[in-house]
Amino acid sequence: MKTLRFRIVQLLSGLVVIAGVAVLAERSSRGQAQQPRSETNSPAKAEQLVKPTILTTDRASANTAAPAPLFAEAASQNSSLHTDLIWTFGKKEQHGWYLYDLLLGQTLNLKPEASANDFASAIANWQRQQGLNANGVLDENSWMTIVAAWQNNRLKDKTPATPDQLLLAPSSDFYDPERLPELRQVEKSTYAAYKALVAAAMADPSLKLAHTSKGELAPAEKFFKIVSSYRSKEYQEELRRKAPNAGSAGLAVNSPHFTGRALDLYVGGDPVDTRDSNRAIQVNTPAYKWLVRNAARFGFRPYFYEPWHWEYVK
Ligand SMILES: [Zn+2]
Repeated sequence: MKTLRFRIVQLLSGLVVIAGVAVLAERSSRGQAQQPRSETNSPAKAEQLVKPTILTTDRASANTAAPAPLFAEAASQNSSLHTDLIWTFGKKEQHGWYLYDLLLGQTLNLKPEASANDFASAIANWQRQQGLNANGVLDENSWMTIVAAWQNNRLKDKTPATPDQLLLAPSSDFYDPERLPELRQVEKSTYAAYKALVAAAMADPSLKLAHTSKGELAPAEKFFKIVSSYRSKEYQEELRRKAPNAGSAGLAVNSPHFTGRALDLYVGGDPVDTRDSNRAIQVNTPAYKWLVRNAARFGFRPYFYEPWHWEYVK
């Protein structure tokens, strides 16, 4: 009983102190602002004058679990993890997630002008959905759940295409116009979707794609051309023999290219080179940015690790 009474007294005196501080703070801000009395009489205006910064941070932390100061800390941790997070993919050590900023922004529904705090807040939302600790830090555990979600969006049925499902695309669609006919086969519905996608890309003046009067990509245009399409199991085996160290991130044993529904498109740099320096160029080209924003409309989904690899999932 004694303890309870003591606690109540403690609590009450605490409240008195808080109220006192609040009054003092308001008085001192009014003093600093040197506003005429008539203006500070309006409660709304007084509020604006007294604590503008607090109002801003309150707004930034709306819809989030953690208070704003925690996201400031998360944002600072994220800025190092962005380039330094060590994780493993395809048996290879990977550094940071900076190559995937664009895909991340799309997955998290971030606006292009989103701040580091907004990003941390969006990560916290993602973590909450995944049942993880919603601290806003994109650490290895949280990052791998995003990677898993991207991988889960890819082509599920990898049944090899039968000859009747394939068509022979003209060499003018290909990055290498000398490419042999057996390497220019594409699954039929994938090809139709690809042509619709290219037509939309050509119609976008910001991409400045060179095209012919017939509405085809010009011979000199490289962007959006097909680097690789259908690959037979035999051909894939041959590629694997030639590059035995490519690992599972390189040349898969069970490749989606067997289906004829996976297209490697030219998005800049060295067409299909997974080195970070090369992918850093690719993820910054207008072509890649356009694909991230628009490919889904045509039924194509990305393979996060290879900016050039797109799969028709319809
Ligand atoms: Zn590919």
